[in-house]
Amino acid sequence: VTGARGQRSVRLENVFISVKTTRHFHRNRLALLLDTWISKTKEHTYIFTDATDKEIKSRGFNIIATSCSPEHTREALSCKMAAEYDHFMASGKQWMCHVDDDNYLNPSALLSLLSEFSLDRDVYVGKPSLDRPIKAQELLPSNKTREVQFWFATGGAGFCLNRKLAEKMAPWASGSSLEHTSDVIRLPDDCVIGFIVERRLGVSMIHSDLFHSHLENLLLLTPAQILKQVTLSYGLFENKINSVGLKGGFSTDEDPSRFKTLHCFLYPLTSWCPHA
Ligand code: UDP
Ligand code: MN
Repeated sequence: VTGARGQRSVRLENVFISVKTTRHFHRNRLALLLDTWISKTKEHTYIFTDATDKEIKSRGFNIIATSCSPEHTREALSCKMAAEYDHFMASGKQWMCHVDDDNYLNPSALLSLLSEFSLDRDVYVGKPSLDRPIKAQELLPSNKTREVQFWFATGGAGFCLNRKLAEKMAPWASGSSLEHTSDVIRLPDDCVIGFIVERRLGVSMIHSDLFHSHLENLLLLTPAQILKQVTLSYGLFENKINSVGLKGGFSTDEDPSRFKTLHCFLYPLTSWCPHA
C-alpha cells in the first residue's frame, strides 16, 4: 500500500542505513556525522570502515571493521559495498540506504520518500551522476567484450534499494560476487549496483532530485529546498569548496560543511545549537 501524502508507512526501524568511511576520516568527517544526523538514527545506522575504533564503538555506534583495504581503489570500494550488502541482507530490514561519510542524511525526508513506493515494486532510487546512461565494456566469458549502457546512482549522493530487489541481486552482489561483477565492467561500486539492477535484472533506476553529491553546485539549492532534501554533501567541485548556502548560528569557519547549521535548523533543541 502506498503511503497517503503526509502519512509515513516506512519507519526508521525498517531501514538499514550504511555509511562508507575509512580510518583516516574517523576523527573529522565521521565525527561530524555522529554529532549531527547519525545521533538521530544511531541504532539503524551501520558504519563500514577498515579499522577498529574502540572509542566510537564504546559510544554505542554500530561500526563494522571490514577487512577491506583502506584505499580509494575500485577493489577496496567494491569490497566495502559488498560488506554493506551482506550485512543488510542479514539484517532482515526492508530498505538499505547507502551514503558516503561526506553526506548529510535527513531521516524525516528519507522516510517520506520511501513511503511513496508501493511494497510490491522493485526500488533502486538515487541521483544519476550523468545526464545520460554510462557506457561500459562488459567482459564476456569468451574474453570478448560488448558495450552496455545503464543508469546508476552516484554513491556520493546516496541511494536506496528495497529488499525485494536486493534479494534478486544476490547472484551478482552477495559475498565475493560484487567484486567479480566489478571486474566484469571494470567500474567502481556504485556503477556495479546500477549494472546489476538495470542490465542483469532489467529493472529501471528511479531518478530522484532529492539526493545530492558535491559534484553538483550545492549553492543552487534555496534554504527552503535544503531542509527537504534526502541527502546533501560538501567537498570540492571544480577546485572550489562546495557546500549548501545556509546562513545560521555558525560561521563558515566553524561550520564549513554547513551540516551543523542545517542540523540546528532541523533539530533546534539540540544542546550544542545556538539558542536565541
Ligand atoms: N573512501 C574509502 N577509502 C579511501 C578513500 C575514500 O573508503 O581510501 C570513502 C570515503 O570515506 C567516502 C567515499 O569513499 O565515503 C568517497 O570518498 P571521497 O569523498 O574522498 O571521494 P569522492 O569520490 O567523493 O571525490
Ligand atoms: Mn566525496
